[in-house]
Amino acid sequence: MADSTNVSEIARDKPRQADLDRCVHCGLCLNACPTYRVLGLEMDSPRGRIYQMGQVAAGAPIGPSYIEHIELCLACRGCESACPSGVEYGRLVEAARAEIAAVAVRPPGERRMRRFVFGHLLQSPALMTVLGALLYLYQASGLQKLVRGLGFLKLLGRLGELEQLAPPAEPPFFFGKIGKTFPAEGQRRYRVALMAGCIANVCFARLNEATVRVLQKNGCEVVVPDGQGCCGALHVHAGLPEEARGLARRNIDAFADGGYDAILTNAAGCGAALKEYGGLLEGDPQYAARAREFAGRMRDVTEFLASIELNRKMKPLAVTVTYQDSCHLAHGQRVRTAPRKLLEAVPGLTFREMPLSDLCCGSAGIYNVVQNRMSMQILETKMENVNRTGADVIATANPGCILQLRAGVTLHGTGQRVVHVIELLDEAYQ
Ligand code: SF4
Ligand code: SF4
Repeated sequence: MADSTNVSEIARDKPRQADLDRCVHCGLCLNACPTYRVLGLEMDSPRGRIYQMGQVAAGAPIGPSYIEHIELCLACRGCESACPSGVEYGRLVEAARAEIAAVAVRPPGERRMRRFVFGHLLQSPALMTVLGALLYLYQASGLQKLVRGLGFLKLLGRLGELEQLAPPAEPPFFFGKIGKTFPAEGQRRYRVALMAGCIANVCFARLNEATVRVLQKNGCEVVVPDGQGCCGALHVHAGLPEEARGLARRNIDAFADGGYDAILTNAAGCGAALKEYGGLLEGDPQYAARAREFAGRMRDVTEFLASIELNRKMKPLAVTVTYQDSCHLAHGQRVRTAPRKLLEAVPGLTFREMPLSDLCCGSAGIYNVVQNRMSMQILETKMENVNRTGADVIATANPGCILQLRAGVTLHGTGQRVVHVIELLDEAYQ
């Protein structure tokens, strides 16, 4: 029996033989793989997972063991950067998950949860606003402190573990800014469009506002187009490509004909998915060319700012900063120097590189929720490397990494502040 949210659409999504055949089983990717580094198991390495995908492609059944190994993958794409044969592992694992989603029999509770989150919540600003308001009431009223203080979370089991990962709601939500245009400060040099995200409108509203301010300071007129919505990255990672295609078409329509020099995002995970709209819609004759054009204009906000003449009128910030590469920026988009270049442009800021900065922090979309134990093991190692730098600020370029690293600081850190690169620039401009 198939998962009822996505039966017919994803039957055509599965790993392509030509992609599988590119792997020569050399094993050079193994040490770049966080799950292999923790478990030391071939079947939880990129090479092992590709081997298993090959077995399924050859007719082996999709059984619980296969599903487990594929779902334990972070889809961080660290293996892609390490691979000398150009294996596009991200594409493979997304297709493998789509194939699994088409045949997996999931428990009814999980099925309902998937349908609610992917089919309704992420696609509905109204629902996110209501839930965001409730979350804010819970967090700001003192109820959260009470629940945590009295130890109720332990009684709730898994639900209690998840509560601790809930991001803070930040009213007023950024949904109110969608449809607006923000003028450039001084002479207009660029006209850019901002992808505001989905959950980010609720939980990273201040980051979105800081992004607009930093762009304005750099001569950008910033449009936040109406009609935009969730980028579909989480859907693709969950094996729901057809849902993602619907969202991609909606975004392509929303950003059409704006005369934008670039379309920007401050979320590396979203950016990687948005840059891949061309591949996602390659089988859609109406949208294929438009998807490629959209993807061609897509930039991470750090990538864009590092490519233009930066406004250097900043006040000094006396901070020591280390940078955590967001996987979907470093591995997914091959953007590594731009965020570092921006940090180094801030006067007074001392930059310290951390060991293995491009190894995943364990966030990986909703991985830290659905694979919490592995995620926490990966995070512990990450924090050891952060602590070694002696930095008092951890900068990164993806909201999901920010939340994960904040949890890391609480559990294993030394009181570091965790921020987006753009937030440091915003402070320096004020
Ligand atoms: S995507 Fe990340 S977790 Fe998955 S196999 Fe590659 S390196 Fe390992
Ligand atoms: S994915 Fe690349 S690096 Fe890893 S085993 Fe295959 S060819 Fe080698």
